[in-house]
Amino acid sequence: MREGKALLIASGTVVPMTEEGLFFTGDVLILGNRIVAVGTNLPRPPECEVLDAQGCLVLPGFVQTHVHVVQSLARHRAEGLTLLQWLTTRIWPYEAALGKEEVAAAARLGIAELLTGGTTTALDMGTVHHHHQVFLAAAQLGIRFISGKCHMDRGEGVPEALLEDRESSLAEAAHLATCWHGAEGGRLRYAVAPRFALSCSPELLTDCVELARSRGLLLHTHASENWEETKLVRAITGKGNVAYLADLGVAGSDTVLAHCVHVEDSEVASMAKRGTGVAHCPGANLKLGSGIADVPKFLAAGVKVGLGADGPPCNNRLSIFHEMALAGTLHNLRHPPGCLTPWRVLELATWRGAEVVGWGGELGRLKPGFLADVVVLAPSWSFEPWGDPASMVVFGAGVEAVRHVVVDGRPVVVEGHLTTANAHEVRQEARSAAASLKQRLPWL
Ligand SMILES: [Zn+2]
Repeated sequence: MREGKALLIASGTVVPMTEEGLFFTGDVLILGNRIVAVGTNLPRPPECEVLDAQGCLVLPGFVQTHVHVVQSLARHRAEGLTLLQWLTTRIWPYEAALGKEEVAAAARLGIAELLTGGTTTALDMGTVHHHHQVFLAAAQLGIRFISGKCHMDRGEGVPEALLEDRESSLAEAAHLATCWHGAEGGRLRYAVAPRFALSCSPELLTDCVELARSRGLLLHTHASENWEETKLVRAITGKGNVAYLADLGVAGSDTVLAHCVHVEDSEVASMAKRGTGVAHCPGANLKLGSGIADVPKFLAAGVKVGLGADGPPCNNRLSIFHEMALAGTLHNLRHPPGCLTPWRVLELATWRGAEVVGWGGELGRLKPGFLADVVVLAPSWSFEPWGDPASMVVFGAGVEAVRHVVVDGRPVVVEGHLTTANAHEVRQEARSAAASLKQRLPWL
């Protein structure tokens, strides 16, 4: 947090996301880590830092509701597979091989990519070990981050190194939460993250629920991503995946389920009733051939939905723009075109995503009193000729449009450059870590 420092984002086309269709030429004034004014020709306080946004769009920073930054070093190394093959032959062996320095390098790469791509908040799931490294990277690079170590205590094809006994697994999570929940002036938060129903015993899931509820933490898991996975859960438990999790307490306004591609109508109704959030990950769902989550149906039922890129090896980018463009087009295969309007998609990537990750009401809009997370987009060719800003962003923008990024009142990207780390070093470190891992995992 930047105590008392004033920052003016000046003379842009402001899209505050407070009202559908609203945009105007104006400024955003920030004091410390809060937005204090949004309007036209705002008076400039003395000694105010200024970020020029003339000719640019100014939006709330983007929120991703499901990512795995630790998987960054396996990017471009896990192609042509369905979910369970992808996990058992690539991702789990990769995660099992990760050392402390490699987790750090992967996390820094993933977070640098998120920030320079305009994502200011992310809900992240780690691997089983070395999770302090992920929080250290988030603290250093300046992202708003909700993250947790992954829990696994059983499952076919899970490497020994990723299996933990319940007591030590929960003790480690509790310790991480003590260290990091609320750290960096509240910018970092802990989320309890059992991987998914097939790799967690019901006892482990129950313990995770208890830890999350006793400490006021978010619960974050995967559910009903792939048909085979959903079928296996039903064979083992006799229930739908989302219903099974809900019966164990993994449901409610403090719970985020990634994917929800294969869900029953009764599960959708229950998610709406209990306030359970869904992380819609269209890029990953298409790449792994998992299916298409029925987001228009979720929204009509009153389910909270946000967007996420998921892991770099199943996407292969952490770009909110990629997810927005897919969310704005994909559902036209099932529903009439326009079923998710560009404004609605932009809501998923901003304030609706913030609601999913437990930051509703103070994040995801440019509004006095809200947290000062802002992105400034410079016009790319596909912005021309200027029209509806939501259309321009959802269908016409990519990460290369990101000019400035402010998180918690601090400019972390200025003129496209990361200010909180040396970008060249982050890339080099990731390449060296991948090369060192390759000695242990020849396929990498
Ligand atoms: Zn995931």
